[in-house]
Amino acid sequence: MKPVIYVDNNATTGVAPEVLEAMLPFFSGRYGNPSSMHTFGGSVAPELATARAEVAALLGARADEIIFTSCGSESDSTAIHSALAANPDRRHIVISRVEHPAIRSLCHHLARHEGYRITEINVDRHGNLDLAQLGHSLTPDTAVVSIMWANNETGVIFPVEEIAARCRRLGIIFHTDAVQAVGKIPMHLADTAIDMLSLSGHKLHAPKGIGALYVKKGTKFFPWLMGGHQEHGRRAGTENVPGIVALGAACRLARHRREDENTAVRTLRDRLEQELLARIPDTHVNGDPENRLPNTSNLSFAYVEGESILLMLNEHGICASSGSACTSGSLEPSHVIRAMGVPYTMAHGSIRFSLSIYNTEAEIDAIIHVLPPIIDRLRRMSPFGPGSGAAACRMQ
Ligand SMILES: *Cc1c(COP(=O)(O)O)cnc(C)c1O
Repeated sequence: MKPVIYVDNNATTGVAPEVLEAMLPFFSGRYGNPSSMHTFGGSVAPELATARAEVAALLGARADEIIFTSCGSESDSTAIHSALAANPDRRHIVISRVEHPAIRSLCHHLARHEGYRITEINVDRHGNLDLAQLGHSLTPDTAVVSIMWANNETGVIFPVEEIAARCRRLGIIFHTDAVQAVGKIPMHLADTAIDMLSLSGHKLHAPKGIGALYVKKGTKFFPWLMGGHQEHGRRAGTENVPGIVALGAACRLARHRREDENTAVRTLRDRLEQELLARIPDTHVNGDPENRLPNTSNLSFAYVEGESILLMLNEHGICASSGSACTSGSLEPSHVIRAMGVPYTMAHGSIRFSLSIYNTEAEIDAIIHVLPPIIDRLRRMSPFGPGSGAAACRMQ
């Protein structure tokens, strides 16, 4: 396979070499079960404790507040189910309109099949949350509010600490899906009213298949996966030792290099974005230009389809992602882009570039060089070009 330019880090990241090195012994020589009575297995347990302390340190939390899971989605599901079990009489859930499917699909399921009432908080044109609507939607019947810390498509950051404090005053459990925020946004959960927080290893240079759920001490917790006594009875199943060790190493790495990493990545992202905006007419940034993650740039190129752009970028080995999903033959913009009310001519040509510390200036140069002629070619082929009238027909 020819070398790729990977700018899809909000979908998954590469495992850091330091992380890979830390986890490898637990696939080979040290394969013991940490619950075993013998020294061979038992000697693995302190490694889990170290990893737990590393995750806690990155979050500004206590080690006993960290539960290892298999992924961000499992953490999200566990958190919501636990919050509902803690307040069985309450039947209302508040989320945002732009949550990841891990929260969105679950809550839609709970509404459709289990009779819960769901309120989805709107976002404005810049992807910022409607805090007034959020305030009005909280009722004595509200069991849990779950709002992501940073959006995976636009990078827009939500004021979760403020929202958590508001929920705390009303006795409502607050959960945040922080999968995109952990390692990028400084956190000190001990000083917040956040009750639960989800994270995922593969979004911060650990491998796929490991996640964690933070549960603040004193928060009522009901396990989702039941069985053995692992994780102090809060999540059954023999521990994913290599994954947990890797997550600990990734958190340590993130804690030490977060600031430098953010600065470097932001510099690359801003150059990519500014050059593309300057070189390609009718290009627009989706999301708040200031209030967002330093690695994410979601751009709309008017009159073209995101999928076509992606396919042509792919031919140059450039891996990005689009904000639309191909459903039943029609290319619908993603729920995030739709929630922001991005105009039709813009919504279909949205592309997300999400960078990491492993991207180079030369890679950014290559994208800046390759993309303008692609957009130009697609626009000349497009029936939806400026003044074509076709766009208006397609809107029905
Ligand atoms: C990737 C992602 C998830 C899901 O995490 P998995 O570990 O892949 O299950 C959840 N929420 C957000 C915001 C994400 O970006």
